[in-house]
Amino acid sequence: MSFSFRNRTLAMATSACVLVVLVFVAMAAIDLRLDANNDAALLALIPDGSGQLEGMTKELAARRLAEFERRLLVIAAGGLMLLGVALTLAWRLVRRVEGPLEDLRGAVERLSGGDWVARIDSPEGGYGADLAYALDRLRISLADHAAAGRALDIILDSMNDAVFVTSPDGLIKRVNLAATQLLGWSQLELLGRELGYVISDQDRLAFSIERATNETLELTVRTHNGQTIPVSLSGSVIAAEDPRFQGCIFVARNITERKRAERRIRYLARYDTLTKIPNRLQFQHSLQQAIARARRAGGALALMYLDLDRFKEVNDTFGHAAGDRALEVLSERLIRRLPPGTMLGRLAGDEFALLVENLPGDTDNRTALQALARELLDGLGRPFHIAQQELYVTGSIGIAFCPQDADNVVDLIRNADAAMYHSKQNGGNSSSFFTPEMSAVAVERLMLKSKLRRAIERDEFVMLYQPKVDLRDGRVVGGEALLRWRLPGHGDISPVQFIPLAEETALIQEIGEWVLKRVCNDYRSWQDQVPQPGRVSINLSLKQLRQAEFLTRYRSVFDETGVAPANFELEITETTLMTDARRMMRLLDELHAMGLHLSIDDFGTGYSSLSALQQFPVGTLKIDQSFVRHAAVSREDATLVRTIIEMGRNLGLEVVAEGIETPQQLAFLRGLNCHYGQGRLFGEPLTATVFLQLLLAQAQGDAGFRSLFA
Ligand code: C2E
Ligand code: MG
Ligand code: MG
Repeated sequence: MSFSFRNRTLAMATSACVLVVLVFVAMAAIDLRLDANNDAALLALIPDGSGQLEGMTKELAARRLAEFERRLLVIAAGGLMLLGVALTLAWRLVRRVEGPLEDLRGAVERLSGGDWVARIDSPEGGYGADLAYALDRLRISLADHAAAGRALDIILDSMNDAVFVTSPDGLIKRVNLAATQLLGWSQLELLGRELGYVISDQDRLAFSIERATNETLELTVRTHNGQTIPVSLSGSVIAAEDPRFQGCIFVARNITERKRAERRIRYLARYDTLTKIPNRLQFQHSLQQAIARARRAGGALALMYLDLDRFKEVNDTFGHAAGDRALEVLSERLIRRLPPGTMLGRLAGDEFALLVENLPGDTDNRTALQALARELLDGLGRPFHIAQQELYVTGSIGIAFCPQDADNVVDLIRNADAAMYHSKQNGGNSSSFFTPEMSAVAVERLMLKSKLRRAIERDEFVMLYQPKVDLRDGRVVGGEALLRWRLPGHGDISPVQFIPLAEETALIQEIGEWVLKRVCNDYRSWQDQVPQPGRVSINLSLKQLRQAEFLTRYRSVFDETGVAPANFELEITETTLMTDARRMMRLLDELHAMGLHLSIDDFGTGYSSLSALQQFPVGTLKIDQSFVRHAAVSREDATLVRTIIEMGRNLGLEVVAEGIETPQQLAFLRGLNCHYGQGRLFGEPLTATVFLQLLLAQAQGDAGFRSLFA
C-alpha cells in the first residue's frame, strides 16, 4: 500500500511539474507566434524595394527565435527547479503519511492476529488519528466478542460431562473437551457426524434426537478404541431465532461407577457374598420359575433342604471368621458334587437348599434323590482343618417333591424344611423324604411358640429331678433339675423342643428365673426333711448367661429363698463357655465366688480343648450321653470315654457319665472308675415329691439302686 502511495504521490508531483512546463512552453510558443505576426505587420508597412527589408526580416526572425530559445531555457530551468521543489514536497508528504499508515497497518495486523490487548494510539503528528481511534474502538468491541466466545469455551471445557451441540437434525457442531476425552475421538473427527455415530450398536436403533431431548436416556456410547461406556444422556432444544444457532445441546454423563455399584448391589441382594451362590431371595425366585416350567412340561422337581448339624458350635468355638471359612469349604464341596440341572442356594446361616429340575413326572424319583443326598452328605462329612483343628461337620437333609408334596414355593420349602427337621431329630447326618405328618410337626412348632408365652402364667412348667448316683456304691448324691412343659392336650414337652423356642425370644430369662426359684423352693422343702439332700444341678443356656442382670437376679433368688448356693451346681455346655470366653470367665468367677459349683455339660460334643476349659473355675465334667451310649460296644467311643475320665481325674475334676441306660454301660463306666452317673437305668426323672421320697428312703437305709451295684 505504502509503495503505491509513494509512487503515485511522486508521479503526481512530476506530472504537475511537466504540465506547468508545458503550459509555459505553450505560452512562450504563442508569444513567439504573436511577436512574429507583429513583426510581419510592421514589415509590411515598410515599402519593399531594397534588399534591406529582407535582411531585417531575417534578423527579426532570428532575434525572435533566439528569444524563444532563451525562454525555453528559462522555462526548462524553472521547470527543473519546480520539479525539484515539487518532488521534495511530495517526498515529505509521503514521509508524513507513510509512518502513521505503517503503524495503523501493524495495528490492524495485530487485531487480525487476535491481539486485542494492546491499545491503538493516535500516530505521532496527529495524522490518521481518526482512523486510529476507530481502529481502537474496533479492537475493544472485538475483544468483548472474543472474550464472550472464549468464556463459553472455557466453561464447556471445564465441565466434567461431555457436551454435544448439534444441528436440529442431529449433526454434531461443537463438542467440549470432556466429550473428546470420553470418546477418544478428536474434535475434527466428531464435527459434522450424526450424534448417533457415537452411540453403541446395541442402543443406536432405539435412539432418536427427539427422544433424547424429551427424556433422560441411559445408554452406552462407543469409544474410538471400541469400548462401550454407559452414560446418562439428556438433551434440550436450543431456542434461537437465528437459524445459525438453532439445534440441540446434549449432556452425557459417564455412569460407569454407578452402574458398577448397581450391579454390585444387585449381586449382593441376590447372591451370598461368602459362598458366591444364590441367596434366599434369588433361590426362591429361581424356584418359582422352575415350578412354572415343570408345570408347563408336566414334569417334576425336587427341593432338598440341607442344614448343617450343630454348626453353631463351630461358630461359637472358633469364632465367626473360622465359621465362615468352614461354610466356604463346605459349600465348595457341595458345589463340586452337584449334577447338571441343579441349583444350590444358601437360605440362611448354615441352611442350604438344592433345586433338582427336570425329573420325570410319572416315576418315583426317590431312589435317585436318596443317592444324591447320600453323596452330598458323604462329601460334607469328610474332615477338614480350621484354626489348626480337624473338624467334622455333618448335615441333615429333607426332600420334598413338586407337584407331589407341594405346588408352590412357600409350601415346598416348608415341607422340605419339615423333612429336614425330621432328619435332625433322628440324629442328623441323614436325609428324609417329606410325609404329610411332618408338616403337622412344623405347624405345631409354630403353635408351641405362641403357647409358650402363656406357659408361666398358666403354671404349665414342672420341675423334674434325675438322680445322680455315685458309681462306686449306687448312693444318690444329688440330682439334675430338668424342666418339663406340661401342656394340656400335649403331654410333657421336652426342653429340647421349647428351650430353643424360648431362646428366640426374651422368654428364656423368665423361664430361667422360674427354674431357679422352683429348684430353691423344692430344695428348701427337702432340707426340712433330709439333713443332706445332696447337690442339685441346674442347666443354663447361653442366652441366660448373657442377660445383663443375670448375677443380681440369681443372687436375690438365693437370698429370698434362703438356700445356700453351695448346694447347687450350674451346668454349662462347653460351647457356651467358649463363646465370649473372657466375659464368661469373669461371670463364672463371680458365680464360683458365691459358692456355686460349675460343671461342663455335654462334654465331648464341642470343639474346645480341655486346656482352654481349664481357665474356668469348673469342678465337674459331664460326658455326653451320645458317647456313653456306644461306649460299651464301640471301640472309638470307649477310647473317648476312657480318655475323658482319665483326663478329668488328672485335672482333679469330678466326672459324671450321662445317659446310662444299660447294666453293660454301667459296668463299663465302673471299670474305668468314673465317679458319678445318671440315666434311665436309675429311672426316669422324678417329681420333687418322688425325689424327696427317694432321698428319705436312702436316709433310712433303703438299698435304693445299690442292687444294681451288687
Ligand atoms: P442335658 O443337660 O444333657 O440333660 C440330660 C438329658 O438327657 C435330659 O433330657 C434327660 O431327660 C435325658 N436323659 C437322662 N437320662 C437319659 C438316658 O438314659 N437316655 C437318654 N436317651 N436320655 C436321657 P431333657 O430333660 O429332655 O433335657 C434336655 C436338655 O434340655 C438338657 O440336656 C439341658 O441341656 C436342657 N435343659 C433341661 N432343663 C433345662 C432348664 O431348666 N434350663 C435350661 N436352660 N435347659 C434345660
Ligand atoms: Mg444338663
Ligand atoms: Mg448333658
